[in-house]
Amino acid sequence: MEADYLIVGSGLSALVFGALMANSGKAVQILEAHEHPGGFGHTFTMAKKYTFNAQFHYVWDCGEGQTVQKVLKKLGLATDVTFTRYDPKGFDHMRMPGYSLEIPSENPELIDRLSALFPKDAEKIRKFIVEVQKTSEGMRKLSPPVNFADALKHLDEVFCAVLYLNSTLQDVFDKFDLPQEAQTLLALQWPDFLLPPDQLSFFAWVILFTGYQQGAFYPEQHFEHVIESLVKVIERHGGEVLLNQEVTNFVVKDKQVMGVKATDLVTHRTHEFTGKTIICNMDPKKAAQMIGPENFSSSIRQKLNYDYSPSNYMAYCVVKDIDLREYGFGKWNTFHTGHQDLNEAFYQMYEKNDYSNPSFAITTPTLLTEEKRDCPEGHQIVEFLTVANYEYFKKLNDTDRKAYNHKKEEILDSILDVVEQNYVPNFRKHIVFKITGSPTTNERFCWCPQGNSYGSNLTPRNMGIGRLNHKTSLKNFYFCNASSGYPGFAPTFWTGALLYQRLSGDLILSKG
Ligand SMILES: Cc1cc2nc3c(=O)[nH]c(=O)nc-3n(C[C@H](O)[C@H](O)[C@H](O)COP(=O)(O)OP(=O)(O)OC[C@H]3O[C@@H](n4cnc5c(N)ncnc54)[C@H](O)[C@@H]3O)c2cc1C
Repeated sequence: MEADYLIVGSGLSALVFGALMANSGKAVQILEAHEHPGGFGHTFTMAKKYTFNAQFHYVWDCGEGQTVQKVLKKLGLATDVTFTRYDPKGFDHMRMPGYSLEIPSENPELIDRLSALFPKDAEKIRKFIVEVQKTSEGMRKLSPPVNFADALKHLDEVFCAVLYLNSTLQDVFDKFDLPQEAQTLLALQWPDFLLPPDQLSFFAWVILFTGYQQGAFYPEQHFEHVIESLVKVIERHGGEVLLNQEVTNFVVKDKQVMGVKATDLVTHRTHEFTGKTIICNMDPKKAAQMIGPENFSSSIRQKLNYDYSPSNYMAYCVVKDIDLREYGFGKWNTFHTGHQDLNEAFYQMYEKNDYSNPSFAITTPTLLTEEKRDCPEGHQIVEFLTVANYEYFKKLNDTDRKAYNHKKEEILDSILDVVEQNYVPNFRKHIVFKITGSPTTNERFCWCPQGNSYGSNLTPRNMGIGRLNHKTSLKNFYFCNASSGYPGFAPTFWTGALLYQRLSGDLILSKG
């Protein structure tokens, strides 16, 4: 088949784009290297009874009239792919020695809670939260597709957003002179970016923080159902999602990408695939290296010159004969830090590989929905997430497998010590299954260079006006991935849908 759209990779933005195009009558063919579709969003099963989503935890922009709903409605999936909301009174529970804060949806409530903790600094805190809200509104006006008349009506907010284009979260904390502990409580969802405040783009933080305030969601039938549903739309319309197909090269003629060469990882045979238009969901920088950087315009080469986001460590655990709801877990995430300074906590773990005083996220997917797809009755899934250094783990993995496994165990042990001391006494006794993932696991199963977590690093440098988008400067060849849009469930829905809108002219994302 010569596809109208030949897509390399089946990450979420590719599946959204592919499903929308297939739904509109186009012939779609997707080549995916992994045995499961979904990229970072794939689901895997262990011991034949426990299913874990590789990376997704919670998502935003899934409410009525928001991006994800617009796409699902267009695909006829809105009544089947549904979401449950995290507790709006506290969707993220922030914990550090001596302090705890539940982040609520409502800003007045957030200001009250922080002011009660830091009464002397109440006014500074209020001003900071108001500025975050204003920046968020300005950024929404500036996000494509831009409604210029509407942007002009909100110049104050737009200017506010532009002011922070090059700021880190730390810059803005410093500007408002927030007390260190308040900074830490507000930034404790750092594993959502895998960057500490002094490196993280203020824009990235504002998008996510305010996005989750408007609604933090979990799919009622787990993430696997979302991915399966998008694949089914493609297949129902005659498209294909071919798994175990690793694209090893692109076929380029006169600055036009004509197709790809792919190796079937089961039969080890190589085939050539062609398409009228080629969509690149794999890492754009890696693809450009395969194609030959000289084929791209200098401006695109510059945009491709991003650094990767840090990689991560994940522990996927199953517990039995315990109800975590009795220990402070529920329809929320828990973020913990031992250090009161997140920049230092991050440095110790990422640069020094020292996890003796860890900072990490705890998520409990089983507690979010009644649908028992993830584990048998009487069991609950708990996942721990923190940062990890790719170079360090790669070297261990290549040279000393025992030391590599030992380091993974050591990190989990350190996290479990904290859990037993602060949250669930004797937690270890209830664990019936555990498996850990390192940066090299990411690289192996998500095909992401250097095990990167979010594509290009979420620093001001990569989040500014020089950010890559769908344009490649090559004919009929487009990027469609977190690094050419934005990372995250809703942002990759948006990335895929926006490319569909641009290529088809069907204005599904238009703002009023
Ligand atoms: C630890 C972690 C936690 C996260 N948590 C959340 C969360 O809670 N909420 C949220 O919204 N987002 C979260 N994210 C971010 C989110 O998972 C990603 O931003 C998003 O899934 C990226 O989608 P994508 O379309 O860019 O494609 P990717 O997921 O990057 O997929 C690219 C696909 O291309 C395939 N591929 C690559 N090379 C080749 C090749 N040569 N041939 C064939 N196929 C190839 C890969 O196998 C992969 O399937 C998390 C990410 C990480 C790492």
